[in-house]
Amino acid sequence: MRAVRIHAHGGTDRLRYEDAPELKLTSPTEAIVKLKAASLNHIDICIRRGLTGREVPLPHILGGDGAGVVAETGAEARNVKTRDRVCLYPLSGCARCEFCITDREFLCRELRVLGAREDGTYAEYVRVPARNCFPIPRHLSFEEAAAFPFVYVTVWRMLVTNAGLKPGEYVLILGIGGGVASAALQVAAHMGAQVIVTSSSDEKLARAKQLGAQFGINYKTADFPKEVRGLTGKRGVDVVVDCVGGESWMKSLACLARGGRLVTCGATAGANPRTDVRRIFWNHLKIFGSILGTREDFGQVLNFLEFTRTKPIIDRVFSLGEAAAAQMRMEEGKQFGKIVLRVED
Ligand SMILES: [Zn+2]
Repeated sequence: MRAVRIHAHGGTDRLRYEDAPELKLTSPTEAIVKLKAASLNHIDICIRRGLTGREVPLPHILGGDGAGVVAETGAEARNVKTRDRVCLYPLSGCARCEFCITDREFLCRELRVLGAREDGTYAEYVRVPARNCFPIPRHLSFEEAAAFPFVYVTVWRMLVTNAGLKPGEYVLILGIGGGVASAALQVAAHMGAQVIVTSSSDEKLARAKQLGAQFGINYKTADFPKEVRGLTGKRGVDVVVDCVGGESWMKSLACLARGGRLVTCGATAGANPRTDVRRIFWNHLKIFGSILGTREDFGQVLNFLEFTRTKPIIDRVFSLGEAAAAQMRMEEGKQFGKIVLRVED
């Protein structure tokens, strides 16, 4: 089969579009999916660069997000059959530990994320546990179905399950444009929250307003905590979505109302920011860290997308062979929404 593989860590020049071995089932509970589309996530770049702190067997196929048609199923795979249109829940656990046996496999120490230590979706075919295959919501194309799982399950866990977001609350989303931030905007706006976004690009702020943001702050030209105080009558916001870290961390805490919640799933600008612990206890702040989410979260996402007819925001579609150009666009931070790879027949 054709696939995009890395044989060594490094820049986008390490991505090779080439022939890879055909896949075979290795367990009766697996399925092989013929992919129609994959999408990019920031973790793909971390893995390519070798920055995850975990060894990846090489050569390796990147990609945690994909959608396609079931090509083959093991004898014990009962939830899907060949030719089903499916999207992929990207996690699986050891099935033995205290977390896995209580349906919390996302906490498993041996957690396997699709495309991280095992081969992913930048390919014509992918092998997955059959129970990770879910029917694609009817209003979504393959490209849209490949664009939502990672970011939507992450956002759902952060905003709905952890932060318990309620209609009318203020939400501040940092760095609008990325996949997580744009999904957070869609979910928060649909839930009736008042959404404030930040970006260094006025164009992205304008786009966010079309998608339901009430206010946009250009953090290059304005001090965003001060602007947030102004917009909320000095009160601050109820929830901050900060997947940036670094310099923004202290500012994010400063934007929160008393009793506010901060949710984080990333640290693209720095993993060891300065903090003021007093601000956390004096203001009764809650900080929720999470990454991806549970099968229950994923099921709620599918219901949400289906019921609200929401489609993930797609920035641009590249062909599989253009994976290097696609990753370059992500690294340059030019995108608004998800970058998708189309897998040709
Ligand atoms: Zn486990």
